[in-house]
Amino acid sequence: MYDIGIIGGGTAGLTAAIYGQRAGKKTIVFEGTNFGGQIASSPEVENYPGIAKISGAELSMKLMEQAVNLGAETVMEQVTGVRDSNGMKVIETAGTDYACKSLILAAGVTHRHLGLEREEQLVGSGVSYCATCDGMFFRGRDVAVIGGGNTALQDAAFLANYCNKVYLVHRRDEFRGEAGLVEMLRKRENVEFVLSAVPKAIVGEHMVEGLILTNQKTKEDFQLDVNGIFVAIGHAPKNELFAELVELDEAGFIKAGEDCLTKTPGVFAAGDCRTKEVRQLTTAAADGAVAALAAVKYLQK
Ligand code: NAP
Repeated sequence: MYDIGIIGGGTAGLTAAIYGQRAGKKTIVFEGTNFGGQIASSPEVENYPGIAKISGAELSMKLMEQAVNLGAETVMEQVTGVRDSNGMKVIETAGTDYACKSLILAAGVTHRHLGLEREEQLVGSGVSYCATCDGMFFRGRDVAVIGGGNTALQDAAFLANYCNKVYLVHRRDEFRGEAGLVEMLRKRENVEFVLSAVPKAIVGEHMVEGLILTNQKTKEDFQLDVNGIFVAIGHAPKNELFAELVELDEAGFIKAGEDCLTKTPGVFAAGDCRTKEVRQLTTAAADGAVAALAAVKYLQK
């Protein structure tokens, strides 16, 4: 029996574990893929207060170590279900049920896909959602990065270190990401901006051989001869498992305010998985603290 069960081992979940343990509560964290979550694959984090520059991988490791050293239990297993059993929260995995007095949902978000034909089939054969994980395989090649946010900008900068040519494809003619990053990319000789362009089709049966785009202004199609397509068009929630337990909004985010309370007593939502305006590392960490302290208060009732 655990005091606080946490689903998701990203910044929000691990921060919740730190706060839970420091409040003397028995805490367990479940993570299905990699502890650290989204930030683990970020090449550089430069906006975490007090740390001028750190790699996402190192920050993730430090977070994990901090939680574990404080006594949090971690389970590297996919959660297959959650249920409320007379007020007790039960976390189900393939082999085991874990009973918890309170539950923090911090499952984060997943990469949004373009929805092109053969996109799924070509993952690992030219299509990627993680430049830092797969960029090295494209050394000396030509690649396209799709998206106009900070992730796409950072991915393009990272890939420009290895690739012959990086096309940064964005559907509008203005980037959403930081102006400083855009200026830095403008100066990179092997980066070319392809603006007002929407991906239409992937060329190649078994490997990516090109990308067909539609120019939004002229409505004409054109092709980029690339071997890699790095998709960085934002994220979508993955809260389907929790739909019975909490309320989801139309986009699938868990309905919860800044207090991280859901409609179910003893169930809290933290980080990118909940309805919120700003999804950042700092706000995920803040949510982790708020949710854990709310759980502690709930346990004292
Ligand atoms: P994002 O800011 O939501 O940007 C997604 C981009 O993809 C937008 O430019 C969007 O175009 C484009 N897009 C969406 N759907 C598309 C589609 N179907 N086809 C083509 N393009 C599409 O996502 P993000 O870049 O992953 O960043 C998420 C959050 O994390 C942001 O708040 C970001 O600032 C933050 N972040 C911070 C750092 C850092 O500071 N270390 C690093 C990465 C991310 P439109 O602009 O036209 O909507």
